[in-house]
Amino acid sequence: MTTTAPGPPPLPVEALAEGVRLGQRRALAKAITLVESTRPDHQRAAQRLLEVLLPCTGAAARVGISGVPGVGKSTFIEAFGLYLASIGKRVAVLAVDPSSARTGGSILGDKTRMPRLSASPSAFIRPSPSGGSLGGVARRTREAMLVCEAAGYDVVLVETVGVGQSEVAVHSMVDFFLVLMLAGDGDELQGIKNGILELADALAVNKADGDNLDRASHAAAELRSALRLFRHTSASWDPPVVTISGRDGRGMDRLWAIIEEHRDVLELSGERGAKRRDQQHAWFWNMIDEGLKQHFLGREDVRRLLPDMEAAVGEARLTPTEAARRLLTLLDIPAHDETAGAGARAASP
Ligand code: GDP
Repeated sequence: MTTTAPGPPPLPVEALAEGVRLGQRRALAKAITLVESTRPDHQRAAQRLLEVLLPCTGAAARVGISGVPGVGKSTFIEAFGLYLASIGKRVAVLAVDPSSARTGGSILGDKTRMPRLSASPSAFIRPSPSGGSLGGVARRTREAMLVCEAAGYDVVLVETVGVGQSEVAVHSMVDFFLVLMLAGDGDELQGIKNGILELADALAVNKADGDNLDRASHAAAELRSALRLFRHTSASWDPPVVTISGRDGRGMDRLWAIIEEHRDVLELSGERGAKRRDQQHAWFWNMIDEGLKQHFLGREDVRRLLPDMEAAVGEARLTPTEAARRLLTLLDIPAHDETAGAGARAASP
């Protein structure tokens, strides 16, 4: 239905690409809207646009930022973004928040959460795309990142809600993954979750200000020893632990120096290029997986048989292997050959 709905005339992709490359904010916003659209004709135009822009991408520092809600992410991103602007960098802020689909509005990357940064001519802030699966949200953020790079942004900050798989999704699209943490009421740490230490390229104990300074230093020391138990994904990089205050803007220069050092070290070891290539391949296979699943679930015969198979598995009448096999067998039958589909089902024991 969406394909036949009368829409605006076809988008002049070349003109849009030119506007993006010239760094025009309106063109940038429009290009990202195109990338985020789920309309098939918009999707085709978006892919053409990205193809034109692709040679101008890849130069930015891609930085993921994670931490539990309340850790101070938006305060930090505003302070860090303003610091980067003050040293002449152009900063784009994007977000991956699949929950924004449910709440109807994005809670991340929201301009109202970063009023000073959003007023800066050096910054571009875009809320998380809403709607769809985590995979879909991540794909759109990834492509928005490419558009920002083509528009000449030096640093792309990608914020993630500190819950669930969104951290893994953001980790798989950035060069550097920063995890913000808090010192607890005692010296103990809050916000350490399974798996997060393996993902982090640096840890920052936030809110290290006022009465909290000592606690933050203790927490940082504790984290350093905890980190020794983990093998980091890079052989040439030991994730540092720092204390910062987003509120006071303390530690921003140190963090940026760490990100630059990380880039140099991985460049030298050849890991940087390898990491980006691996990410591209992972994305490619992700798109194939999603595409296959969509194609599979879009088939009439699959949709008809699926509830029975799910019920049979739930009631232990069939093994998951056998139920999946019966459904997957349908792929050998031309999708529109309904008789063959019915035959196959009837023939199943
Ligand atoms: P987010 O949910 O992770 O984005 O966290 P926010 O940036 O919205 O901050 C959550 C709360 O912590 C707010 O009340 C902030 O004022 C406070 N906060 C954020 N950063 C700091 C900091 O560096 N120091 C202190 N003392 N408070 C902070």
